[in-house]
Parts: sequence; structure tokens; C-alpha cells
Amino acid sequence: MTVHYELNGTLESPPARSDKPRRPVMPAMLRGAANRCMNCGQGRIFDRFLKTNHACSHCGTEFHHHRADDAPPYFTITIVGHIVIPALLAVEVMWHPDLWIHMALWVPLTLVLSFLLMQPIKGALVGLQWALYMHGFDPDAEDDLPPVPLPSERTT
Ligand SMILES: [Zn+2]
Repeated sequence: MTVHYELNGTLESPPARSDKPRRPVMPAMLRGAANRCMNCGQGRIFDRFLKTNHACSHCGTEFHHHRADDAPPYFTITIVGHIVIPALLAVEVMWHPDLWIHMALWVPLTLVLSFLLMQPIKGALVGLQWALYMHGFDPDAEDDLPPVPLPSERTT
């Protein structure tokens, strides 16, 4: 079966399959989640908590053009919410504790889980973008962002 795409009234073939080397998604995401370069597994992705390095110190793979944006907090909120809310409801139904006990349990647990999950989730998303040649990770793609200055070139 042949699929044709119609764009602007003309019949075109689907885009040719890329001849770029395949980048396995799951190892890239796991390396990213472990704060390791998704290409070589040696260098670190993050300079600080959620600030990525400009490039890998070992192999030179650039990280600065990732577009994780709001996805890490979105997934963190989703995961933490699916842990904390059922646990909160279960504790309430089983033991009916005072409100201060709920506050003492769930607020710290929510904060701790959020801080623990945010960096691995962001690293996994950067790894996913690299594996799928998204955004600046595709060397053949047109650059849709202005160039990011190197840390040494920054004025502030
Ligand atoms: Zn590397």
C-alpha cells in the first residue's frame, strides 16, 4: 500500500526515510535521566539542578538547544499527583487523621518527590529529543532559534 500526501493541491510522496544513524530512544532517555550524556554516557548533562551544560565535556554533543520547556514540570506534577493523592485518600479513608497530620505528611512528601523527579525527568526528555533528532539535535535541520552565546561570551 502506498500512501500519498496532498499538500497545497499537489500530490507528493511521503518524505524520504532519513539516512541518519538510528539513535535508540530508551538508552538515550535512561542516560539522560541518570544525568549522563545520551551520546557517550560519560559527560554530564546538567551543570546545576535544572541548568544544562552547553555541551558534553567528553564527546562534545551539544545540549543547549533542547526544548524541554514546560514538559518536565508537567510530567513531575502528573507523577507526583498520582502518588500523593491516592495515598492521601487512602490514609484519610482508613484512619481519618487530623488535618495537621495530613499537612505534615503530604506537603513534605510532595516537595521531596518533586525535587527528586524533576531533574531525571528533564534529562530523559532531553535524551528523547536527542534520540528523535528534534530541534537543534538534527544537524540538517534549519535553525529556528538565534544562536546561544557560549558561557564565556555572556555579559550577565
Ligand atoms: Zn558525551
